[in-house]
Amino acid sequence: MKVLCANPPWWIEDPDAIYGSGLLAGVRAGSRWPFTSAVRSKPGQYRFGDYIPYPFFLGSAAAYLERETDATVAFRDSIALREDYDAFFKYLKKSRFDYIVIESASPSWPHDAELIDHIAKEFRGLRVVVAGPIATLGEKLLAEHPLHAVIQGEYEKGLVRVVGGESGLLPHDLLTEAELNAAPYPYFDPLHANKYWDSNPKGQVFPQLQVLTSRGCPFRCIFCVWPSVMSNNDPDGTGVRRVRQLSGDYLEGMLTELVGRYGFKSVYFDDDTFNLGDRHVLEVCGVMARLGLPWSAMCRADTVSWDTWRVMRESGCFGVKIGFESGNQWVVDNIVRKNLNLEKARDVVYRLKSLGMTVHGTFTVGLPGETPEQMADTRRYRASLPLDSFQESGTAEIEGSPLSTLRRAGSLEHYAGASLEGYVAERDGTRKMRLVALRDAGLGEAALCLRHGRPAVAESICRNLLEAGGEDAPVLDMLGTIAVRARKFDLAVRFFSRAVAADAALAAPCLHLGFLLRDQGLTEEAAACLRRALSLDPDCLEARQALLALGADPEDGEAPDAKAQASLAKSLAAVPVTSWGRTLRRAMDAADAPSRPADPEAAARAAAGGSPRLIVLDHGLRFLAGHHFAYDLGVLMECMKREMPVEFYVYADCQPEAVKVLRARAVLQPSRYASHSSDKYCSWLEDFLIAGSIAEFNLFKNLRADLDPSDIVFCHTADPKIVRGIAAWYLAMDKAKRPHLCLKFQNHCFRFVAKDQLALARSIFRLALKPFVNEPKVCFAASNRLIGSQIKQMAEKPCPVFPVPLQLEVPARPFRTRAEKGTVRIGYAGEGRLEQGVGFLPEIVEAILPAYPDVVFEVQFACRFVDDDTLERLRSFGDRVVVHESCFVGEDFHRLVASFDALLLPYQPTSYVERSSQIVIEAIALGVPLIVPVGTSLALEVKHFDCGYSLIRGYDGLSVIEAVAHFIDNHDVLARKSAEAAPRCAAFHCGKTLIDLLLASCGVPVPGTPRREG
Ligand code: SF4
Repeated sequence: MKVLCANPPWWIEDPDAIYGSGLLAGVRAGSRWPFTSAVRSKPGQYRFGDYIPYPFFLGSAAAYLERETDATVAFRDSIALREDYDAFFKYLKKSRFDYIVIESASPSWPHDAELIDHIAKEFRGLRVVVAGPIATLGEKLLAEHPLHAVIQGEYEKGLVRVVGGESGLLPHDLLTEAELNAAPYPYFDPLHANKYWDSNPKGQVFPQLQVLTSRGCPFRCIFCVWPSVMSNNDPDGTGVRRVRQLSGDYLEGMLTELVGRYGFKSVYFDDDTFNLGDRHVLEVCGVMARLGLPWSAMCRADTVSWDTWRVMRESGCFGVKIGFESGNQWVVDNIVRKNLNLEKARDVVYRLKSLGMTVHGTFTVGLPGETPEQMADTRRYRASLPLDSFQESGTAEIEGSPLSTLRRAGSLEHYAGASLEGYVAERDGTRKMRLVALRDAGLGEAALCLRHGRPAVAESICRNLLEAGGEDAPVLDMLGTIAVRARKFDLAVRFFSRAVAADAALAAPCLHLGFLLRDQGLTEEAAACLRRALSLDPDCLEARQALLALGADPEDGEAPDAKAQASLAKSLAAVPVTSWGRTLRRAMDAADAPSRPADPEAAARAAAGGSPRLIVLDHGLRFLAGHHFAYDLGVLMECMKREMPVEFYVYADCQPEAVKVLRARAVLQPSRYASHSSDKYCSWLEDFLIAGSIAEFNLFKNLRADLDPSDIVFCHTADPKIVRGIAAWYLAMDKAKRPHLCLKFQNHCFRFVAKDQLALARSIFRLALKPFVNEPKVCFAASNRLIGSQIKQMAEKPCPVFPVPLQLEVPARPFRTRAEKGTVRIGYAGEGRLEQGVGFLPEIVEAILPAYPDVVFEVQFACRFVDDDTLERLRSFGDRVVVHESCFVGEDFHRLVASFDALLLPYQPTSYVERSSQIVIEAIALGVPLIVPVGTSLALEVKHFDCGYSLIRGYDGLSVIEAVAHFIDNHDVLARKSAEAAPRCAAFHCGKTLIDLLLASCGVPVPGTPRREG
């Protein structure tokens, strides 16, 4: 006999999702009020961070059945595994079960009923057993669906009876407290154990064990399901409700075994009400103190003494969830019937906070008989509490609760204030929320969330409002704004377009759409939108200025009539969608602008004989996100300012957008091959020879016929690999026709050469440089002093350090003390490569956060190099670690760096001995202190500008932790030094200094040039 205890998949498509995967996912067994929501995971692709509750009754029934019968019992939680339907059905087909047990409740039942019909059709012979709150419907279920049995209440014993041959309706038959304390431990296996996660209350540590220490609750809240239908049979709230608690001994055995087997690092007790009486809680505290794991629990505010709260804290309890339900005392007393004094509950929350615990509050709106003003009271009350997090759900009506009895019977004896008048019945809490949401308050809250960096919450509120109120233009407009923030420009266009269509008189979406279309290069459509915004709001300065910048006449507007509205909607429907970033588009706009402010000196030079043409070679440019692009853009901007002609030749496979913005010729291909040798020296030599040949070929092909002796060829990423090819190309030219040539070295590429062959590699490089040494029109430069001095030594020719042409539109950080800030934000930004120390991050965060309560971390990974485990661990720290998995460009990137109180760069020292890192320069110029590895070019740079820094003295987690702690302990001194160093750095690292130095090195004198000798 084979029995499957299943929590099947539950996915719903959601094409308009901004955050999340474009799908809604449901949680069913394990959640008291099943619901659907946007999640990070996708079908077949588990991603850490979604709320996934352990299916307590299903897991216990599986373990119990296995012990009590000869059946072969399997457990499959497709919700936790994020399994798709196909995989689930394949599993059913392969495993050939005799029974499948599914726990369901009202919110999931429409989906589950369809699924069950499908299973019955496709898997003949598989007997379907249904349990859970939906079993309250009893015979009705059996009559309407192909079910073998329906078990009411907790179903350990019922399942044993079904496997023993019973079928049909099995009424409540619960384990006694003694049986519960002798039952096998809930089912866990390696496939599922580390998938469950509830991020609240804050402070959770992954992997998290979710278990119950009791079943049932003596209170009778009107909406509450499990105490009325699973652990008791009291759907109208009039009976006696029993509570069964696990003994300390049983609990200690269970936790020790499960923690020992699966390595859980925290425990969450998700009882109906964990803290029912001091005795039980103190017993659990004793167990947890011995176990030594941090823990949290679902509690009431008024069921234990103050001393017990204190013992909870001392035994490792870091946080609790507390149910308030409503912020209106009359509602709490007469509708919910919770027997809770809200003033006393508030006092408890303050006292828990004084113990250093986190508190998550739970609230519900849309109760039967509740007025909008009473719902507003809930928001006001909530705002008066020092909560770390909260949830506000629509009151879901679930079969088996007193609430569902009320609707069926029309009234409930003990719930005096509960009334069906104006009551909206809904079984899904998320949907109910949408139906009762207070639009204006919701919109205000969404705006607040957006301002405070919680766009996903803002999205969720807006979508609730949308479902409740239909096509609401301001809500759609805000969703468009959220989509722009998320860089989902296609969705933003859709939302703004829908807002325009929903309200012909609203200017804001027209304006936003205009900006978006302008940024995407759709000038005509943008102008149409901006004109419309201006005609609706003649005082809209932004629309007027944007039209002028587009070269469009602001006065050429159209009247805001229905015809114009229709034509605009039509033209928008045809808008193609691209994903241009704003910064890039601005750069393109600037490049396309017909007239630019001229540098008077440059104008004079141009008048006296014309500016030289600058030809930039960059074989390192790949992505918009990288620093090569920022560098080239800086050169482009400065040249445009000086009216100096500039051309770019870049790597052939680089992102087309980068080619377009720079108007580059994408031809250089020196890295487009793989060296064959596994020997480090030989592969370096292969690089040297092949890359050189390709560079030579490209230069001949593209530049030979097109050069003038006054041109300056600037190779700003020269390295040994291509220098030989450049020499061959340059020296083959007629002497009189040779242009100026500046080779700027970023690194010497010797880090891949074995130590004993380093001298040989250096000799080869020296030979490659030799032909240039006596060339009068060839100069050298370096990206930092170390490389500069090495090249100078090898070539016996000056090699000054050239600045980075930073385009800083974000002001540098002013000095503020740690006390003034309140929160210290440690940032990490970059591609997230292993050599950039990304693997240390969880360990660092884990050590620093408990020691420094005022510290938070913010990490950005521009590319998806970081592994899932690291990401999961980082996300497990909740609000104290903000993770961005997206690429920030230009101004956005600078704004991100400038928001950090320190930038942490735990780079591998051996990889960065001489190699430069532009982010260091950006951080110094923005006044941000740095935490960098000792003995690297990064350390040299921070010392040179004398900014605030902390040195990492070894390449291990502990050294990084010490360096971070050193920074925090010395925050004020280091922050002040960085604020003072910022202008010095910004003055050197700018486009003007770079081009001045380049011209001077090539023999075009520029007065007052700053110079840093290599
Ligand atoms: S106190 Fe909590 S668990 Fe008990 S009935 Fe009320 S909501 Fe349910």
